[in-house]
Amino acid sequence: MPFIVCKFGGSSLAAGDRFLRVRDIIRSDPSRRAIVVSAPGRRDAKDEKITDLLIRYFETGDEALWRAVETRFLEIGETIGADAAPLLQETREAILRKPSAAFAAGRGEYLSARLLARLLGFRFVDAMDCVRFTEGGALDRAATRREMLHCLCGEPFVLPGFYGADAARRAFVFPRGGGDITGALVAANLGADVYENWTDVDGVYDRDPAVDPRARRQRRLTYDQMESLATAGANVLHPDSLRPAREESIPVHVRSSFLPRAGGTWIT
Ligand code: ASP
Repeated sequence: MPFIVCKFGGSSLAAGDRFLRVRDIIRSDPSRRAIVVSAPGRRDAKDEKITDLLIRYFETGDEALWRAVETRFLEIGETIGADAAPLLQETREAILRKPSAAFAAGRGEYLSARLLARLLGFRFVDAMDCVRFTEGGALDRAATRREMLHCLCGEPFVLPGFYGADAARRAFVFPRGGGDITGALVAANLGADVYENWTDVDGVYDRDPAVDPRARRQRRLTYDQMESLATAGANVLHPDSLRPAREESIPVHVRSSFLPRAGGTWIT
């Protein structure tokens, strides 16, 4: 059976009904056994990303911000039939105990992954245990590879994207949008047949479709072409996520969780 690593972005997991849609996508192909997730993103243009709320909560201690985080996850929990309250309480206490902005910033991914793992019946693996940073906060590729091979073989799993830890278990995060990097590292280190990157657009366009009606979806791109588009600001894939996939020649398939039958874009 082929082995597919899937990464779901924040808009694909922004609310409870979207979690159910993601579950259906995963269940529709038993090869989808390695799942990497973002924190819930915006449900609409006026909304705030959970990651932004958490960063501001850590900076200001404003309990209204925590309540906004809580309300979102309680709705998700209710829709998927899981009581998120104990998990939320535990998470808030951990943020208050751990004076680290990076730890707080990654809690949206942590909560997303815990809830999705429960919904799917997959095991949860904490990125603290397998995405390794150096003391200075740079990604340690060799240690991450070693830890991933150790922690991620066997049963299907859900892993939070975006954060990891150094050897002393101090949390670090990738740059914003860095859940894509976690997904690419999993795909490269486990030798996936495909790295599926599920987002809210049906593929990569040659220019911004929101501003230019002549924009055309690209069915196929080379890693080089995608790298130029990403560096020029195409917001679909984090530019740093291409290198691990490219080094191991893992095909990347950018697809929309809102239009799962659409062809998306293949990057090879
Ligand atoms: N949640 C993080 C962000 O909002 C990382 C990600 O979504 O990839 O930037």
